[in-house]
Amino acid sequence: MSERKPYLAANWKMQKTIEETEDFLDRFVGDIGDLSGKDIVVCPPFTSLATAVDRCRRSPVRIAAQNMHHAESGAYTGEISASMLTSIGVEAVILGHSERRALFCETDSELALKLVAVLSAGLEPILCIGESEDEREEGQMEEVLRRQIEADLEQVDEQALSRIVIAYEPIWAIGTGKTASPEQAEEAVGFVRSVVAERDSAAASQMRILYGGSVKPGNAEELLGREEIDGALVGGASLDPADFLAICEAA
Ligand code: PEP
Repeated sequence: MSERKPYLAANWKMQKTIEETEDFLDRFVGDIGDLSGKDIVVCPPFTSLATAVDRCRRSPVRIAAQNMHHAESGAYTGEISASMLTSIGVEAVILGHSERRALFCETDSELALKLVAVLSAGLEPILCIGESEDEREEGQMEEVLRRQIEADLEQVDEQALSRIVIAYEPIWAIGTGKTASPEQAEEAVGFVRSVVAERDSAAASQMRILYGGSVKPGNAEELLGREEIDGALVGGASLDPADFLAICEAA
């Protein structure tokens, strides 16, 4: 096990009303016990953020958003800024999820701006990167990961690098039930760390790098037991408090 604090994040995507958020958190926080040695982060939809922050006030659970705009304010209908998130007690934000890249045409150059805005607002970014099935089959995994890391982190100062959490999420494993093997996941996470180390080796050794893609209670232990893998970004299995708790306990 490395010195890095395990990091477990629940990405609910466009799921759960305010009532369902309250119900989940009352059960999850009630059962959580002592997970003080781990970072546990829940990422509900925007409408549930304030309620979730309130429900987790006296617990080790922190709340993250699933996206934000890089500008502070302005004519960006439907968008949310970093200061709007910090003003309600949100502490982190997912950036560049593959669904946002594919369905909402989010680009690496926008992500570079978002990372700077997130870090200067004092929020913790959870930056998602990962290759498609075709790219993996064509032997392009490393090239794709390198391109994303270099472009997304381009404007981040060396001192801020270690505050970024990166989630390696192979697109072919997200929501498909097809998990990367522990060897595949560890190899990719190790590669991500080596690319960050080319910029700053101390930051790379401190940075938490997660795996995401069909993590469940049944496979969490073997994935999270790997030296290089510092935690998980969990989609489907994080919707059930008992399943997400079992994954947190496995880390
Ligand atoms: C995700 O959406 O980030 C994710 C990893 O989803 P799932 O766990 O459902 O594959």
